[in-house]
Amino acid sequence: MTNETWGEIRENLIGQVGRNNYVNWIEPLEFSELKDGVARFVVPTQFMGSWVSQNFGDQILKTLKGNGEAVKRIEFTVPKTVNGKAHRMANGKAAPAKAKAAAPAEIDDLPGAPLDARFTFSSFVVGKPNELAHAAAKRVGQGGPVTFNPLFLYGGVGLGKTHLMHAIAWELKTSSPELRVVYLSAEQFMYRFVQALREKEMIGFKQLFRSVDVLMVDDVQFIAGKDATQEEFFHTFNALVDQNKQIILSADRAPTEIMGIEDRIVSRMQSGLVVDLHPTNYELRLGILQQKVEQYSEQFRDLEISEGVLEFLAHRISSNVRVLEGALMRLFAFGSLVGREITLELTQDCLADVLRASERKITVEEIQRKVSDHYNIRLSDLIGPKRVRTFARPRQIAMYLSKQLTSRSLPEIGRRFGGRDHTTVMHGVRRIDELKDKDSQIAEDLELLRRSLEG
Ligand code: ADP
Ligand code: MG
Repeated sequence: MTNETWGEIRENLIGQVGRNNYVNWIEPLEFSELKDGVARFVVPTQFMGSWVSQNFGDQILKTLKGNGEAVKRIEFTVPKTVNGKAHRMANGKAAPAKAKAAAPAEIDDLPGAPLDARFTFSSFVVGKPNELAHAAAKRVGQGGPVTFNPLFLYGGVGLGKTHLMHAIAWELKTSSPELRVVYLSAEQFMYRFVQALREKEMIGFKQLFRSVDVLMVDDVQFIAGKDATQEEFFHTFNALVDQNKQIILSADRAPTEIMGIEDRIVSRMQSGLVVDLHPTNYELRLGILQQKVEQYSEQFRDLEISEGVLEFLAHRISSNVRVLEGALMRLFAFGSLVGREITLELTQDCLADVLRASERKITVEEIQRKVSDHYNIRLSDLIGPKRVRTFARPRQIAMYLSKQLTSRSLPEIGRRFGGRDHTTVMHGVRRIDELKDKDSQIAEDLELLRRSLEG
C-alpha cells in the first residue's frame, strides 16, 4: 500500500464515520508503511492517535482489509518526541517506537513488550488507595540491592498496575541503561513459550529469560490452569530469584485467590511483598482528572472547562481510571469540535452513555451498614423497634439517605426497616430534611455518609 492508495481507500470511510469525523480525524492521518501486517500512520499528536485508534480503529482496519490489504493491526506514530524518542500507539496505547533507544546496551533481542511512554512515575497520581503500591514500586524502581522479591501488585481493572510496572521499567532503564529489564504480559510469556516449544527452541528460550536482570510479568492470573506455562514460569522465576534478580508481578487479585495455580507457585509469589491497589476514591479521581487536563492543556489551549465539571466526573465515574480518562478525552474532542466551553450540560449530553453505565447502585442495606458503623450502633438496633434517640435518629438518617440515594419507594424502604409503614419513613425523611438546615452536626454527618457511600 502507498500513501496514494490509502488516499483512495480512506474515502470509503466517509460513509461510515460521517463527513465531519472524516475531515477531523481520518484525513489528517498520514500513511507511513505497511510491514508484517502492521499498517503505520503518522499523526500530529498523541491524543489524536489514541482518539482515532479508540474510535475509528476497527473501521479503518476493516476498510483496509476489505480493500485487500494484508493488515492485521494498525499503529499510530507521533513525530513529536519525548526525550528525543518518537512514541507509537496501538489501540489507544502509546509506546515508544524504539523502546530500545532508551537502553543502547540492548542490542540483542530481549523478549519484552514495548513500554508506554505515558506510564511514568511523574504521571502517576498518588492517593490513599494506591500509596503503598506506589511506594513499593518507587522503591523497586530505584534499583540497588533487591529487598523484596517478588513485588506482587494486585488490584481491579484500570487501577494502575500496568502503569506502575512501566514506570518502574522506565526508571530503571534511565538510571541503569545496562540493566536488562523485561516487561511482558503473562499472555505474551505463554505465547513465547509455546512458540519455543513448537520451534524446538526451548534452550534459547530458557537462556533468554534467565539472562534478564529485572523481569516483570503483567496479569499473571492468565497462567491459571495453563499447566505447562505455569511450570516453565515457575522455573524461570526460581532461576531468577536464585540469582537475586528482581521480579515484579501483577494480577487482578491476590495470589491466594487465583484459582488453578499450583500451591508452590502461589507461595513463591507471596514470598516477597504483596501490595494491593484499592479502588479509587473521589480525591484520587479528581487528582487524576486535574493532571490530565494539565497534560492536554497545551493541545487544547482554547478549550475552557466550566467549574464543577471535573468534580462532577470524579463523582460520577467511579468504575475505573481508564473509563474516567476515556470520558475526559471524549469531552475534549467534543468540546474542540463544537468550539464551545465544556459546561456541565455539555458533559451530561456528551457522556450520557458512560454516565448511565457507571451509575453505581447504592442499596438500602449498604446505607444501613454505613450508618450503623458511623454511629457505632448495632445494625439490629438501627432496624429494630427501639425508639430511643440514639437509635431513632440514625434510623431516620438512614431512611433519608435511602430515599435520596436509591430509587426505592417509601413502602419499599419501610419494609427494609423492620417492616415499618411508609408514613413512618416519610416522617423520618422530612425530619432530617428540616434538621439538616439547622443542625450542622447532622449536615456534616450526612455529607460524610453520602461521600463514603458514593465511593
Ligand atoms: P491496570 O493495569 O491496573 O488495569 P492501567 O495501569 O492500565 O490499569 O491503568 C489504566 C489507565 O488509568 C492508564 O491510562 C493509567 O495511566 C491510568 N491510571 C491509573 N491509575 C492512575 C494514577 N494513579 N494516576 C494517573 N493515571 C492513572
Ligand atoms: Mg494492566
